[in-house]
Amino acid sequence: MVLTALAEEKGFKMINAEKIRLDFPILEEKVGGKPLVYLDNAATTHKPGAVLDRLIEFYTRMNSNVHRGVHSLSREASGAYEGARETVRSFIGARSAKEVIFTRGTTDGINLIADIFRETVINAGDEVLVTEMEHHSNLIPWQAACAKKGAVLKVLPFDGEGRLKTDELDGMLTDKTRIMALSYISNVLGTENPVKDIVRTARSRGVPVLVDGAQAVQHIKVDVRELDCDFFVFSGHKMYAPTGIGVLYGKKEWLDRLSPYRYGGGMVNSVSLDRSEYAEAPFKFEAGTGSLAEAVSLAAAIGYMDSIGMEGIKEHERRLSEMLCERLAGIGGVTVYGPPSGRRGVVSFNLEGAHPYDVGTLLDKMGIAVRTGTHCAEPVMKRLGVPGTVRASFAVYNTEKEIEKLAGGVKKIRAIL
Ligand code: PLP
Repeated sequence: MVLTALAEEKGFKMINAEKIRLDFPILEEKVGGKPLVYLDNAATTHKPGAVLDRLIEFYTRMNSNVHRGVHSLSREASGAYEGARETVRSFIGARSAKEVIFTRGTTDGINLIADIFRETVINAGDEVLVTEMEHHSNLIPWQAACAKKGAVLKVLPFDGEGRLKTDELDGMLTDKTRIMALSYISNVLGTENPVKDIVRTARSRGVPVLVDGAQAVQHIKVDVRELDCDFFVFSGHKMYAPTGIGVLYGKKEWLDRLSPYRYGGGMVNSVSLDRSEYAEAPFKFEAGTGSLAEAVSLAAAIGYMDSIGMEGIKEHERRLSEMLCERLAGIGGVTVYGPPSGRRGVVSFNLEGAHPYDVGTLLDKMGIAVRTGTHCAEPVMKRLGVPGTVRASFAVYNTEKEIEKLAGGVKKIRAIL
């Protein structure tokens, strides 16, 4: 009751996770006869009935290709697809829906920008700046672009608490830096990076910034205009929507300036045998048929999250991660990685004397799904000096009871070591 009053005072609704769970059919599944405790949400979240219904509705009521037909179904599908773009625009606070490009996901969006920059912006001797805590998806495309053009990849390190060494940022930006790419929230450490400040510093030096929001949009309210970043990418499947759909936000000035990188139907105004006139953004970056039903369902996922409220989601997940950290600290022999405060969405840890894979396998026997391994962030593992970690990651449907089950499971494993 005290928490509810506090939440009301701050202007948001407390989350009733037990009630929310009823929206997710898969959570009724049993694993080895035990109720499923799903704590692998950073890899992908489950989908609520509202999203699944919308996906089926698209195929049963309006399935048709978009932008290409004058017939009623096509017009309805086009309306739903462009409506979804507008929903995304409002969700991330973009100025215009023309700044919202549908992609297959975060990796696809980063590759799109890295490919275009490699072709048109990055030259031999130039520099690209990333950070030491990037997911491979926000590292390898830049590595490859630099290798191909003879450019230099520079890396902003993180400190012992898992926070970026932002005091080194200014010194790493030079007049050769063509772009900086960094994650908003680390998928291993849970660190929420001070993106707004980093963007301000980079842009004051004329350097555009791409923000990987794959682990942010489902946990905190994102406003791309407030961040003032040039590009922002995320995946639908990590925010209660289907796989195969994601978003690349780009500032209009950039999208107008950049050439397309894939060619085909739907991205042109006119075509003759020797030349084509490209459409304006976002269409010039969306050659071919997109993930239509998935885009429409992404809008349903946004509607679902909005109906719960981002502030409530943030507070709920903060409580779960603090609770897990407290419980793990009480077990002994557990190392938790990442910042002691302000962690978002994930808690990565290791149990002394046990390989993370063994911990994950034993937890699975108890019906508890966590992720184990390098989490597509091998440089982070190298920096931590570990072969991998166990990672619990949260969603709006996780409960305190599940945190107790995980902590109890880790305690049991500790006892048999
Ligand atoms: N960036 C971060 C921070 C991630 O956590 C992930 C996936 O876990 C990705 C990028 C890649 O996302 P996707 O596989 O949806 O493209």
